[in-house]
Amino acid sequence: MCQNCDFRTGLFKNRILIETGVDGLYGRSGVFEDVIQRFDNLITSFGGVDKAEVVRFPPGMNRALFEKSGYLKSFPNLAGTIHAFNGNDKDHAALIDKLQAGEDWTLGQEATDVVLAPAACYPLYPTVAQLGALPEGGRLYDLQSYCFRREPSKDPARQQFFRMREYVRIGSPEQVTDFRQTWLDRGNELIGKLGVPFHLDVANDPFFGRAGRMLANNQRDQRLKFELLVPIESEEKPTACLSFNYHQDHFGTLWGIAQHDGEVAHTACVGFGMERVALALFKHHGFDVDKWPSPVRKALWG
Ligand code: AMP
Ligand code: ZN
Repeated sequence: MCQNCDFRTGLFKNRILIETGVDGLYGRSGVFEDVIQRFDNLITSFGGVDKAEVVRFPPGMNRALFEKSGYLKSFPNLAGTIHAFNGNDKDHAALIDKLQAGEDWTLGQEATDVVLAPAACYPLYPTVAQLGALPEGGRLYDLQSYCFRREPSKDPARQQFFRMREYVRIGSPEQVTDFRQTWLDRGNELIGKLGVPFHLDVANDPFFGRAGRMLANNQRDQRLKFELLVPIESEEKPTACLSFNYHQDHFGTLWGIAQHDGEVAHTACVGFGMERVALALFKHHGFDVDKWPSPVRKALWG
């Protein structure tokens, strides 16, 4: 059951989000987008000093690179692929027949060379590898993308298409862990300005299956993932709005990214769930942004 259906209904009634008939797939109002844009600017006001290289990928990524990324080993249930019609006139006629008969027309669809990006940073690593060894200071990227995860839910904070802003640090273990600590501190300060209750905690990714439980335990034991959580859907199970991930040398080894001295690069990323932060604001301050507390309005509208 959805514990938060009142909130969801309120979002629809107030036309903050627009229903499409599919759970987790929503239209966004101008007001909602304005909040997202202003939160985006707030992130930049904290991270801009670092002069990250800005890169924007579309929400699709190269399927061959996605296959190599290992995502399907860990999260086969969340992945989304793009299939398309690749037939002739006869196949087209068969498709129309099936459609009209109410039969499954999708069986004739073929996998394309594009899949949906599950996180903003996934398309980045192979492109960094192509640049050759890192400079001495490593590299830092500023990303934002719509991402897809197949997790339909009545919880408005669990969407199938959502935006993730990320900073990604690639360098020595020290550079990368310093980066993560900096963002743990900044995350506290940044979300503190929004007047919503929150706390930080050690976390794990939702690795699939029995083998996944071991990966999750390992990730927790090594404190590789932290989340900044805000109660949205429920008080007892607050929602991860920001994630701070240290991948160690996982992506460096996988993609062949070398530090300037030839050692394998380490990576870390901080991810901001844009919709989740916006929803946390609507949840705690109400549907009328003009009535939000003045310190919150000041943080976002200046
Ligand atoms: P993750 O890679 O799982 O740590 O995700 C990064 C951030 O994206 C999380 O901290 C969330 O804020 C956001 N996020 C993840 N999954 C969803 C989802 N299904 N709907 C909305 N936001 C999400
Ligand atoms: Zn990432």
